[in-house]
Amino acid sequence: MTSETTTEHKPTIGATGRKIIYDEDGKPCRSCNTLLDFQMATGKLPISSSSSSKQPPKTIPTPVSNLIEDEYKQDPPDVELLGRSSWTFIHSLCAKYPTQPSNEDKEQISSFFKMLGRMYPCDWCAKDFTKYLQENKLDNSSNEGLNMWLCGAHNAVNKKIGKKEFDCQLWKKRWKDGWD
Ligand code: FAD
Repeated sequence: MTSETTTEHKPTIGATGRKIIYDEDGKPCRSCNTLLDFQMATGKLPISSSSSSKQPPKTIPTPVSNLIEDEYKQDPPDVELLGRSSWTFIHSLCAKYPTQPSNEDKEQISSFFKMLGRMYPCDWCAKDFTKYLQENKLDNSSNEGLNMWLCGAHNAVNKKIGKKEFDCQLWKKRWKDGWD
């Protein structure tokens, strides 16, 4: 056990070096942690000294999906898979937002982002996203405006978690027209 763990089965820092998030019932939150950290918190991955040095552990278990033939029997997504899939959906949805939206379009896209800030399954991500929405007014006036706003919102998350920021001038190539 390392100094960063409370009990053998309730580590506070995961194998990736991130803080482990627990739900209100005390169970590790699946959609708030990386798979590696979740496995560590649920005791499926030994808590080793590598977790205290914030390096990935030497023994990384074979991905469960490789062992299961039935492709339906996959585990629920971790924070990264959930995030990647969600951004794909959100950017794709916004890429099709009208150039000249009606009042109904504007209301519905505003409700969508408000809902996302309330119900996104990673609750600490959702709280930060709501804060971003409050501090950075959603631009629902046009397709370009919405997508530039979204790029900024995504970049705020990238920055927060130490990822490279995306060049927003390229949003259309990435999410609408393609690169050629
Ligand atoms: P992603 O960030 O998932 O991006 C997918 C693809 O989108 C990239 O490959 C790139 O081609 C493109 N892209 C990247 N940035 C932009 C941009 N600015 N504009 C347009 N396209 C872009 N994770 C956390 O750990 N903490 C959080 O607080 C958190 N909050 C989140 C909030 C929301 C609303 C969502 C949807 C996800 C959140 N995530 C959070 C997940 C996180 O943003 C990533 O999805 C996850 O870390 C996986 O990252 P990735 O490297 O696969 O790329």
